[in-house]
Amino acid sequence: MKPWETYYRKITPYVPGEQPNVPGMIKLNTNENPYPPAPGVQKAVEELNTEQLKLYPDPTSSLLIKALAEHYKVEENQVFVGVGSDDVLAMAFMSFFNSDKPILFPDITYSFYDVWAELFHIPYTQPPLDEHFRICKEDYYRENGGIVLANPNAPTSICEDLHFIRDILEHNQESVVIVDEAYVDFGGESAISLTKDFENLLIVQTFSKSRSMAGMRIGYAIGNSSLIKVMNDVKYSYNSYTMNLTSLYYGVEAVKDENYHQECVKRIISTRERVMAALKELGFHFPASKANFIFASHNTIPAEKLYQDLRNENIFVRYFNKPKINNYLRITVGTDEEMNQFLEVLKRLVKEN
Ligand SMILES: *Cc1c(COP(=O)(O)O)cnc(C)c1O
Repeated sequence: MKPWETYYRKITPYVPGEQPNVPGMIKLNTNENPYPPAPGVQKAVEELNTEQLKLYPDPTSSLLIKALAEHYKVEENQVFVGVGSDDVLAMAFMSFFNSDKPILFPDITYSFYDVWAELFHIPYTQPPLDEHFRICKEDYYRENGGIVLANPNAPTSICEDLHFIRDILEHNQESVVIVDEAYVDFGGESAISLTKDFENLLIVQTFSKSRSMAGMRIGYAIGNSSLIKVMNDVKYSYNSYTMNLTSLYYGVEAVKDENYHQECVKRIISTRERVMAALKELGFHFPASKANFIFASHNTIPAEKLYQDLRNENIFVRYFNKPKINNYLRITVGTDEEMNQFLEVLKRLVKEN
């Protein structure tokens, strides 16, 4: 070992879902939206003059912040934007979790939370989900340095209602509570309205799922202006130009077209409900999904076997080789056509196994 190597940061990184590029593949492994972004985004792409790229982008991201503030009926100083919600969440961890008390998040949830906690040296405790993959809210009624909940949770797809979130907030007035709503548009109820009553609540959302812009990398947080100010102080201490110029232009177009957004979401929900019924017929069980994916386990065939067999047919779903969930597949809801092909192959695999 070279002497300087002892000074290296040692961290086990988050592992994103693979991005295969096989002709004719059906990609249901990273919860992307199968439909294109709003038509206004295409138009903005065509109208972009590359001369504009000479200049730095607006460090305050004011166009996009204004559009989001208008859309969610909050003040502009209540909105923070970042390079995907991963960036926004990382900034929030840096901004709010500086206590010796552990932060709390479930043992089964978005697997980036423990990576950030490790990276930023934040102590953490992971209360277990119950046997139905539900969060036990009483586990969060104790002293802590902060709370992070994904709602709907990932990869379970289960959404808790606003009473549940409110209960957690009422028991936690001394630390920041982050609710990661990456999937909330697919049938959940956002807790943005609760930011009026709770100054310590931060909601984080993304353009990657319901707004079909995973490739663009846009995420945002909404909360009390005092929280947003701290996040901006941290951002400007780290990288002033997180949002590139195109993210700002294309993001605004996506936010403006709420009709298109709702249309896409409706299609995905209706496909999801149909696929859930078909999976049940094939011998799968799963929690009722409020997300754009289904977390399913077969009654007799091991998930890892199905994952491999599907892969061999160029159908990619996500499999987590982790305690408690290693017999489940996380299946993203694609287009109706993709899901029909998926179900057809699955039917054959179930018969063969
Ligand atoms: C997809 C996802 C994110 C991150 O999305 P970005 O693409 O970084 O905006 C954050 N949280 C959860 C729970 C997710 O599933």
